[in-house]
Amino acid sequence: MLYLYLDAFFIFRYFILMLMSMVISELFYEEPVYRPPSEGKKSLLITATVGCSFKCTFCYPYRHKKFRIRAVDEIIEDIKKARKMLGPNVERIFLLDGNAFVMKPNDLVAISEACYKYHPKLQRVSAYAHAKDILRKSDLELKEIQNSGITMVYMGIETGDDELLQKINKHTNANELQQAAQKLHKARIILSGTVILGLAGDNIELSRRHAIRTAQLINSMNPAKHQDWYISALTLMLPPGTLLANKYQNGEFTPLSQTGILQELRLMIEHISDDVHDCIFRSNHASNYLVLKGILSKDKQKFLHLIDQALQNPSMLRPEFFRGL
Ligand code: SF4
Repeated sequence: MLYLYLDAFFIFRYFILMLMSMVISELFYEEPVYRPPSEGKKSLLITATVGCSFKCTFCYPYRHKKFRIRAVDEIIEDIKKARKMLGPNVERIFLLDGNAFVMKPNDLVAISEACYKYHPKLQRVSAYAHAKDILRKSDLELKEIQNSGITMVYMGIETGDDELLQKINKHTNANELQQAAQKLHKARIILSGTVILGLAGDNIELSRRHAIRTAQLINSMNPAKHQDWYISALTLMLPPGTLLANKYQNGEFTPLSQTGILQELRLMIEHISDDVHDCIFRSNHASNYLVLKGILSKDKQKFLHLIDQALQNPSMLRPEFFRGL
């Protein structure tokens, strides 16, 4: 597996691949390694925590990893080694694993400062966070973290429906998710949130509730001031071994149809308030049937039109066998 990609020609990529295989043997990684798609091209991956301290029913990557936080000096050692191996051109660092933002504020600051110290062209450090990892930190602590250079956090929202959040074992609710988003905005840490289409299964009433409450939650996350933030939609997949996949096999969960997914997406977009600003919306993850990219709520009509077209003409959709995590 590649842990760092740099945009370039094939030969250069091959060279990087060779170099990275050397880095892999030097740095600490516990397989499997996952990172957000937007960290796929330019980011050096540094393991800060292993696994995730939560166990959501649909979550695949961390189900077999025993959660632990690495010692800060070990993490900094990896940051230094990466500089030796890769030189001074690293521009982004993503802190693994499932919720590295769980770490204490001072530790995150120390790690981020080391990232910038040893990688002089660094532009951003980012990490995954659970809402509770954000809420546990004061506004001042979040500001210190942002000042140290951790300027983006990826937070799983999944749904705005409290009952569904409970069902999937998310250990949070819509109110906490909204507060966490607002705290990030206040600290000027860019929020990148994900929601999951199809999470409520094939029950039409529950699917509608999921769509509408998720839209309402996104509306409530609107920042007070102008600043970029991101919402991405993923579509539920059921890789074997997850708790939800087990329920599916036992007949306790039925996935929503492709048409149902599009109708759910439509209903969610329809309920996005016209007041939502600076929110970059994407459904370009490999799990989705339909790719949308634009700004909420500016591009709302365009999105609705595209969804309607796709409902009329399913050949526009990504085939089932091309979907992936
Ligand atoms: S908090 Fe995120 S990474 Fe952790 S188990 Fe839940 S979905 Fe997976």
